[in-house]
Amino acid sequence: MSTRVTLLAGDGIGPEVALAMKKCVDATKVKIDWEELCVGAPAIAQFGTPLPQAAIDSIKKNKVAIKGPIETPVGKGFRSVNVQLRQELDLYACVRPARYIEGTRAVNTKVNLTIIRENTEDLYAGVEFDLYSDAAKHLIKEINSLSKKQVREDSAISIKPISVFGSERIIRYAFEYALKSGRQKVSLVHKANIMKFTDGLFLHTGQKIAQEYAGRVAFEDVIVDNMCMQLVQKPELYDVLVLPNLYGDIVSDLCAGLVGGLGIAPGANIGTNAALFEPVHGSAPKYAGQNKVNPTATILSGIMMLEHIGESSTAAALERALLAVIKEGVDVTYDLKADRNDTTAVGTQEMAEAVCRKLRN
Ligand code: NAD
Repeated sequence: MSTRVTLLAGDGIGPEVALAMKKCVDATKVKIDWEELCVGAPAIAQFGTPLPQAAIDSIKKNKVAIKGPIETPVGKGFRSVNVQLRQELDLYACVRPARYIEGTRAVNTKVNLTIIRENTEDLYAGVEFDLYSDAAKHLIKEINSLSKKQVREDSAISIKPISVFGSERIIRYAFEYALKSGRQKVSLVHKANIMKFTDGLFLHTGQKIAQEYAGRVAFEDVIVDNMCMQLVQKPELYDVLVLPNLYGDIVSDLCAGLVGGLGIAPGANIGTNAALFEPVHGSAPKYAGQNKVNPTATILSGIMMLEHIGESSTAAALERALLAVIKEGVDVTYDLKADRNDTTAVGTQEMAEAVCRKLRN
C-alpha cells in the first residue's frame, strides 16, 4: 500500500531542492503517492494568497507533508507561511538534528546533537501591535498603569507568551525523544536570569519534568548566550537541546554553521495530528533557478519523513547513499567543495542523480 504525502515545493530554491528530494525518495522504490500543492510566490500569482486552504486541508488529510522553503517579506507584507503552517496545524515540536558528516566543510567535527525547538509560542506567536496603532496606544497606557517600568509611547510591541501547557509538552517531547534515540542528556536553554516570568516558567517546568526522567536521562539548564559560546567551543558536551521558539531558531542556524552550513541541515515539525518535514534553510532567492544549491538538507528531511512513516530500512539505505556521495566529494555542489569556486562542482539535480545511482549500486 502506498503512503500519500503532501508535497509543497515552496518558492525561491524550494522547487529545485524539493524535486531533488523527490527523485531520491522515488529511487528507493518506496511507495509514495505525492500530492503536490502550490504555496508561496506561485500561489500568490495563482490564488492571491501564499497559503491556500487546499494546502492546509491536504496536510490535515494526509498527516504527513514535506516542503521546500518559502520566502517571507522582512518587516512588512504577509506573515510567515512557515509560522502559519506550524501554528495552524499545531506542529509544536521542531526537531533539527545537527551532526558532523564526513566530507563536509564542518567547522567542528564533534557535533552530534538534536535541537528541539518549541514552535507555537514565544515572540513568534504573532501577537504584535504596530507603532501608533490604536491597539498599541491602548496597550501602552494599560502597561504603564500596571507596571513600574514605563513603555515609551513611540513603541511597537511584540508579546512573548510562554505557557505551562506549551512548555510541558515540548520539554516532555525532548525527554521522550532522548529516550527513543538513545541520547543521554537534555539541556534546557533559557534566559531566566533576565526574563524571570516567561523563561523562568520554561526553566521551572523543565526542572519539574526532569525529575520524572531522573536516572534515565540527565538534565541541565544553560543560559542562551553562554550556550552559544559553549556550542562553538565544546559542542561534544551537548546531546539534546530544548529551547523556546526564538532561541531555537537562532541556535539551529548556529549549529548548522558548525556542521558545514545550511545546505546540510534538515528538520521536522511534529504535532499530535500531523508532521511536516523541511530543511532549516530559507528560499535563498539569489540562487533561485540556478540549479546550484545543495539538496542535502531537503534529502535528509525526506529521510526523516521516511523514518516517520515507518520506512526505517529505506531511510537507512537512502542515508547511506547520500553520505557516500558526500564522502567521495565528487558529484557534490559548490558548498561541499574545499574551494567554493571549484568548477567541478555539480548542480542540485546532478547531485541528487548521483545519490540515485549510488542507491542502485
Ligand atoms: P536562506 O537560508 O534562504 O539563505 C542564506 C544563505 O545560506 C544563502 O544565501 C546561501 O548562501 C546559504 N544557503 C541556504 N540554503 C542553501 C543550500 N540549500 N545550499 C547551499 N547554501 C545554502 O536565508 P535568508 O536569505 O535569510 O532567507 C531568505 C528567505 O527565506 C526569507 O524570506 C526568509 O524569511 C525565508 N526563510 C524561509 C524558511 C522556511 O521556509 N522554513 C526558513 C528560513 C528563512
